[in-house]
Amino acid sequence: MARITLDHIRHAYGPNPKSDVAYALREVDHEWADGGAYALLGPSGCGKTTLLNIISGLLQPSHGRILFDGNDVTNLSTQERNIAQVFQFPVIYDTMTVYDNLAFPLRNRGIAEPDVNRRVREMLDIIDLSDWSNRKAQRLTADQKQKISLGRGLVRNDVNAILFDEPLTVIDPHMKWVLRSQLKRFHKQFGFTMVYVTHDQTEALTFADKVVVMYDGQIVQIGTPAELFERPSHTFVGYFIGSPGMNVMPAEVHGSTITLGGETIALDHAPKITAGDRVELGIRPEFIRIGREGMPVTITRIEDIGRRRIVRASLAGQPMAIVVSEDAEIPAEARVTFDPAALNIYANSWRVGREA
Ligand code: ADP
Ligand code: MG
Repeated sequence: MARITLDHIRHAYGPNPKSDVAYALREVDHEWADGGAYALLGPSGCGKTTLLNIISGLLQPSHGRILFDGNDVTNLSTQERNIAQVFQFPVIYDTMTVYDNLAFPLRNRGIAEPDVNRRVREMLDIIDLSDWSNRKAQRLTADQKQKISLGRGLVRNDVNAILFDEPLTVIDPHMKWVLRSQLKRFHKQFGFTMVYVTHDQTEALTFADKVVVMYDGQIVQIGTPAELFERPSHTFVGYFIGSPGMNVMPAEVHGSTITLGGETIALDHAPKITAGDRVELGIRPEFIRIGREGMPVTITRIEDIGRRRIVRASLAGQPMAIVVSEDAEIPAEARVTFDPAALNIYANSWRVGREA
């Protein structure tokens, strides 16, 4: 297990990474705690796999260093870094049996055969492939092969970190739940540093104690699920986390008030920006109250989603979503109010601090 330091990492694919080309990773600089369960969340193409491969040693960064417990491992191979990695698609030995696939990483480390046998049997049980142990891997389904990949990643318990790159993509939905909870249990039991890449917010939020949100080659926020929900550091995090995402509307700040299409809202603090500055106001659909008080809205549509309803409306010409409970009363002449503490203010997409 190790603390992982990402020291000013940048990466460009292509023949001349030093030139001014588009970077797949731009300035990633952070430290991940020993034993932490991190989910790396972001849309396709934002650089998740690139970052994971740089941590594991499959890829050399164009700039920057990787340290494990303070030791520079940038020039070490994956094996020397002592990392287990599970990919999106199965990476197994087709001609070996299921048993031998799982035994391989252990035998490779010189572990005695009785111990190998015990650990492989345990793992076969966890991934539900005990009945298939003597089959050649090539005769299994894609789903079963991916379970072998997971088993190979988890069978060793002496790794510095275990990295997962969207490992459940090919697994059927029911088995996904089972394996996800097994992974959680494993993490608790062995305490390895775990980095789990996903583009699925539900997976990230249920799985990790810290969620790392990536956007366009950068880490835009690291936080607990509650922090990401209540205080998105960037408008992208607001859109991406939550369903529907945060409402973002153009506004203007004057001291400790904000104006939105001619209406003025009192803030609970004066943001650190010049009066009259154009900003973006972010507010979660769950934190808007609808009733007979406040600013007038025009309701365009109401969607039922189980026990909640999404009210699509427009406020001062800006579209907004409001989430209410199924039994909430929605007046014909609807108005909305906000709790000032629930408002987030952004300048150039980045949140302006409240600490002023
Ligand atoms: P993610 O895993 O978040 O989907 P990737 O790390 O795979 O993102 O990709 C980040 C960016 O780098 C994308 O723009 C992608 O097109 C580019 N990229 C990824 N792999 C390569 C490669 N081998 N050669 C060139 N460009 C690549
Ligand atoms: Mg990827």
